[in-house]
Amino acid sequence: ASVMEKILQRKSVRMRNLQRAWQDSPEGMKMLAFRKSLPAYKEKERLLSAIARNQVVVISGETGCGKTTQLPQYILESEIESGRGAFCSIICTQPRRISAMAVAERVSTERGENLGESVGYKVRLEGVKGKNTHLLFCTSGILLRRLLGDRNLNGITHVFVDEIHERGMNEDFLLIVLKDLLPRRRDLRLILMSATLNAELFSSFFGGAPTIHIPGFTYPVRTHFLEDILEMTGYKLTSFNQIDDYGQEKLWKTQRQLLPRKRKNQITTLVEEAFNKSSFETYSSRARDSLACWNPDCIGFNLIEAVLCHICRKERPGAVLVFMTGWDDISCLRDQLKAHPLLGDPNRVLLLTCHGSMATSEQKLIFEKPPPNVRKIVLATNMAEASITINDIVFVVDCGKAKETTYDALNNTPCLLPSWISQASARQRRGRAGRVQPGECYHLYPRCVYDAFAEYQLPELLRTPLNSLCLQIKSLQLGTIGEFLSAALQPPEPLAVQNAVDFLKKIGALDERENLTNLGKYLSMLPVDPKLGKMLIMGAVFRCLDPILTVVSGLSVRDPFLLPQEKKDLAGTAKSRFSAKDYSDHMALVRAYEGWKDAEREGSAYEYCWRNFLSAQTLQAIHSLRKQFTYILRDAGLLDGDAGISNNLSHNQSLVRAIICSGLFPGMASVVHREKSLSFKTMDDGQVLLYVNSVNARYQTIPYPWLVFGEKVKVNTVFIRDSTGVSDSILILFGGALTHGVSKGHLKMLDDYIDFFMDPSLAECYWNLKEELDRLIQK
Ligand code: ADP
Ligand code: MG
Repeated sequence: ASVMEKILQRKSVRMRNLQRAWQDSPEGMKMLAFRKSLPAYKEKERLLSAIARNQVVVISGETGCGKTTQLPQYILESEIESGRGAFCSIICTQPRRISAMAVAERVSTERGENLGESVGYKVRLEGVKGKNTHLLFCTSGILLRRLLGDRNLNGITHVFVDEIHERGMNEDFLLIVLKDLLPRRRDLRLILMSATLNAELFSSFFGGAPTIHIPGFTYPVRTHFLEDILEMTGYKLTSFNQIDDYGQEKLWKTQRQLLPRKRKNQITTLVEEAFNKSSFETYSSRARDSLACWNPDCIGFNLIEAVLCHICRKERPGAVLVFMTGWDDISCLRDQLKAHPLLGDPNRVLLLTCHGSMATSEQKLIFEKPPPNVRKIVLATNMAEASITINDIVFVVDCGKAKETTYDALNNTPCLLPSWISQASARQRRGRAGRVQPGECYHLYPRCVYDAFAEYQLPELLRTPLNSLCLQIKSLQLGTIGEFLSAALQPPEPLAVQNAVDFLKKIGALDERENLTNLGKYLSMLPVDPKLGKMLIMGAVFRCLDPILTVVSGLSVRDPFLLPQEKKDLAGTAKSRFSAKDYSDHMALVRAYEGWKDAEREGSAYEYCWRNFLSAQTLQAIHSLRKQFTYILRDAGLLDGDAGISNNLSHNQSLVRAIICSGLFPGMASVVHREKSLSFKTMDDGQVLLYVNSVNARYQTIPYPWLVFGEKVKVNTVFIRDSTGVSDSILILFGGALTHGVSKGHLKMLDDYIDFFMDPSLAECYWNLKEELDRLIQK
C-alpha cells in the first residue's frame, strides 16, 4: 500500500473509534433510539445492499421518514464501521440553501459532533467544512459548480440528489449531467430521493434503476375546505371582492365548466359572480395593484386570522403551520397578528416565521418546543412543504398558493406571481399535520377549486428563463445547448432555448458560433445571474465597484424598500428622497445603503430604517453579500489582492450609471413623452408599465431617452421593477459594444458621438481603462 493509503487507513481507524465512543455514550444511545424510531431505519439493510449492488437507486418515502438525515448517514456510518471511513466522500444535494444548512447541522448533532467535523455543508457564498468532512450537504447549484472544475467528480464515492420530485431546474439539469457521467465513473453511486410516488419516471430515465419505497406511518388528517371553514369560524364573506385573491384567470375558467354541477351554496354563488365580466375586471385591476402580493385588507389575512383564533380558542394543543406565498406576506401577516389581543400575546402564542432568508438563530427556534400552554404558530413559505420538517405540527393552514416563476417564452418574460399549487402539493401540505397525532388541515379555498388544481406542478425547467443554465452547459463543455437539453426528463421548448442563447450572445458571453467568450468564462465563475455577474466584472474593471456591489447585492437579495399596502404613498415618497435627480432606482438603493451605514455608525440605524421604510434585515443581508462578492472577485483574479473596493471612480455618477447599463443591457425601454404623460416601450413587446414604487414612476418627464432594467414581470400587463435612466452614448458605449471588443467602425461612430464628449470624465475613464478591460477579457 502507498503512503497515502496508509495514512487514510490510520485515519479510518480513528474515525471508527470516535464513532463507537459516541454510540456507546448515554447521549449517543438516546439519539440512536430516536433514529431507530424513524421509518427509514426498518429499510436500512435493504437500502445499503441495493446501493452496494446498483449504480443508481431511486428511493421514495413520506416527508419526515428519514431520507435526508438518515440515508447519507447510513452510508457514512457503514463505511466508517467497515474501516473505510477516510476513503468515502458523500455528497447530498438540496434544492435550497437553508435546508442544506439545517440538515447538516442536524446530522452533526445526531453524530455527537460539531458542524464541520465529519459532516459539513456548502451553499452559495458560505460553508462549513473541514479536512475530515466526508459527508457534505450542498445545494444542487454547488454540485453543478463543482462539476465545472472536476467533470468526473474525482474522489466522490456517493452522490445523493434529494427532493427530485420538486423538479427544480438544477436537479433536472444535474440528472442529465450525472447520467452522462456514470459510464465514465463505474464506481460512483447515485441515489435519487423523492417524497412522492412518481419514482417510476426517474427510474426509467436511468434505464430501469431499482426503486425502493419507505413505507411511512402518518396519522389521519381531517380536511376542511373554505365552505366548512366559514361555517366553523363564523367568518362572513360579504362580496366577491373578498374572495378574489384566490382567483386567477385560468382557474376560474376551468371552474366555469365545473360549476353547474356543484352545490348552490353561498360559495358557488360568489364564485359564479366572479364570472360576471365587470367583477372579473375589478379582480384583474386589483391584482395588478397589489402586484402579486396578497392584499392584507382583503380576505386572505383576515381569514387566516380568524382560523388561527378558532384553533387557539377551540382546538386541542399542538403547533400550527401556515403556508403563505412569500416573505412579503409573511411579514405583513406577522405584523397584523402581533397587534391581535390573543394571537399577539407572547404568553399564549409563540409566533415564528420560516422562509428562505431567515437567520440561523431564528431557524433553530422553529424546531424547539414552546413553553407549556403556549401555542407555536409558524408562518412559512412552501419551504416547509417538504425540505424542512417541524415535528410538533398538528394544524396546517393552507392558502393554496405558492409564489412561482413562470416563463412566457413568446414574450421572453418571466412572470412572478402566486399561483395555485398542485394537488400533489396540497396533499403534501396536508400531510404535515399528521406526523405526531391525528391532525387538521384548513384549505382556504373551496373544494371545487381544489378539484381544478393540476395534478403535479410543471417542472421548473419548463417555466424559467434558461440564461444561467445555458451558460453553464457551455462552461461544462457539454456540447450543443439544444442537443444537450433535448436529453432532459422533459425538454424545454426550443423557443425558450433560443431566447437564452440569443441573450447570451447579446451580452457577449457567447460568440456567434455559440462558443464561450472570455467574458463568458468569467461569468460562469460568478454565482449570480449572468447580468449581475457582468455588472460586477465591469464595476471591478472600471474602478467603481463600491456602489456596484450594493446594486448587485440588492438585486440578488431583494428590495430593501418596503411597501406596506396601507402606506404606499408615504413609502414611495420616502424612497424618492433617495433618488435626488438620478432617475434611478438602483442609485436610490446605493444612497439608502450608504445612509444606513452612516446611521449605524451613529447608532441610529433603527430610526433610520423606520423613517425611510427600509428593511434592516434586508440591508444587513446586502451588507454581508457585498463582502462575499468581494472575496469571489478577488478569487477570480478580478480584483487586486489589497486594493480596496471603494476605488477612486465610485463617486462618478455617470460611470456608475454606465456600469449599471452594461449589466442590465439588453433590458431597456425607450421613454416616450406625450403631452403630460410618459409611456415606455421595450424593443420586443411594446408597452410596459413601471412598478408603483419605482422612483421613475413619480416623474412627469425623464431627461433620458432610455430606461435600463433588470427584470420584466408579467402580471396581466408587463411591468418593470427597478430602472435607471441612461443616455444614448452610455447605451452605445456600455450596452453591447464593449464586450464584443470595439471595432474600428465602432470607434469612428463613438468619435462622432457628440454626447459622449460632453461628459469628459466618462470619456477619460473609458479611454484609460479600455486597455485594461481588453487585457482582462483576453486573458
Ligand atoms: P425526510 O428527508 O424523509 O423528509 P428527514 O431526514 O429530514 O426526513 O427528517 C427525519 C426526522 O428527523 C424528522 O421526522 C424529524 O423527526 C427529525 N428531524 C429532522 N431535522 C430535525 C431538526 N433540525 N431537529 C430535530 N429533529 C429533526
Ligand atoms: Mg428530506
